[in-house]
Amino acid sequence: MIQRIDHLGIAVRSLDAAIPIFEKLLGRPCDGIEIVESQKVKTAFFHVGEVAIELLEPTDASGPIAKFLENKGVGLHHLALATDATDAELSRVTQAGIKAIDQAPREGAHGKQIAFLHPKSTSGVLVELCSPPEG
Ligand code: ZN
Repeated sequence: MIQRIDHLGIAVRSLDAAIPIFEKLLGRPCDGIEIVESQKVKTAFFHVGEVAIELLEPTDASGPIAKFLENKGVGLHHLALATDATDAELSRVTQAGIKAIDQAPREGAHGKQIAFLHPKSTSGVLVELCSPPEG
């Protein structure tokens, strides 16, 4: 079941430049930085109520965020929806006709189970399903 919006992902060229901007905007310090090797990104999180803002800086030119910056520039990258079980929700939406980028959940930031859906089947918005780490 989809529970709420979990976070919004924003692609940036430099966390060193973007973090102070969001600290000023939100009036609070960044909650933490994490490198996600599988995505070739360094992330910085800000929690705003129940929703987080995730800044994404590429760590490698071959990764998806580097490609996104090359094609579209900085800005909103994805909308993440919290679910109790990413695998079950991925099956539900793909059976309903939505195309997935990930055919099975994988590990994202904070050890969460994540899966991306194809923006061509979700009105141009890259959607991430995410659920708490297993176990
Ligand atoms: Zn995300």
